[in-house]
Amino acid sequence: MLIGSSCKMHLSVDEVRDWLRRCAALLAPIDGVDVFVLPPFVCLPMAAAELRGTRVAYGSQNMHWEERGAFTGEVSPTMITAFGGTIVELGHAERRRHFGETDATVNLKVRSALRHGLRPIICVGEQARAAPVADDTVQAQVRHALEGVAAEDLDEVVIAYEPVWAIGQAQAAEPAYVFDRHRAIRAVLVDTYGTAAGARPTIIYGGSVAPDNAGELAADPAVQGLFVGRSALNPESFRRIIVEAATSATSSPSSTVARSSWPRRARTRTRH
Ligand code: PEP
Repeated sequence: MLIGSSCKMHLSVDEVRDWLRRCAALLAPIDGVDVFVLPPFVCLPMAAAELRGTRVAYGSQNMHWEERGAFTGEVSPTMITAFGGTIVELGHAERRRHFGETDATVNLKVRSALRHGLRPIICVGEQARAAPVADDTVQAQVRHALEGVAAEDLDEVVIAYEPVWAIGQAQAAEPAYVFDRHRAIRAVLVDTYGTAAGARPTIIYGGSVAPDNAGELAADPAVQGLFVGRSALNPESFRRIIVEAATSATSSPSSTVARSSWPRRARTRTRH
């Protein structure tokens, strides 16, 4: 099971340091769960220092697809890896809404992330709650994001299903609705890559995950992890989410808890 959080721009630099320190202390020893945190870019050196020697992976909330160039205000993949980052979140709903992120730029970033040994967490999700439309939307987003991605890279890919209408709300999407969307995402992966390769990407759920719903959301094997926003700003609550999810997943009939290992392997390839 893969569980992580982006602290977005919610915290000051001092608060990020404290958050990382407490995450390092509270989250590292949880067996069966691979944990990641995504601080703001400027806090990556701090993450490298605070998380050294722990099993908590870290990375960034966005990146540019080029290594260098006249791209004022942008951060390159090699800048992330230089500070030990192994993960990058791409296409979050807020980036699509406020900063003009498109399926085309997400695709460029996904391919660049994979070339640079970063594991892309590709965020997809429909604007409004409506099951058939939701499947069309998320399936199209997944298809676009993975255009040109080779089957051999799919182990590194994480799809975060984050229905826009469930982000930052009082309640998460209902578990049954989430399970159906996860199956729709898996179906498009299998349709594109075949059964074996299409099973490789990890699909996680995000959108108002909290300690009191994490267990229910993680109960179905289609949910291979959770992506947490506000509820992880308090590391004790983050830990409770992880414990609830891990307990629920291990007690479900077809548990996936022991299946993942994050980071899966050190990546040394750089393909262009
Ligand atoms: C998010 O924005 O990715 C997210 C999951 O936020 P929250 O948990 O606060 O809804």
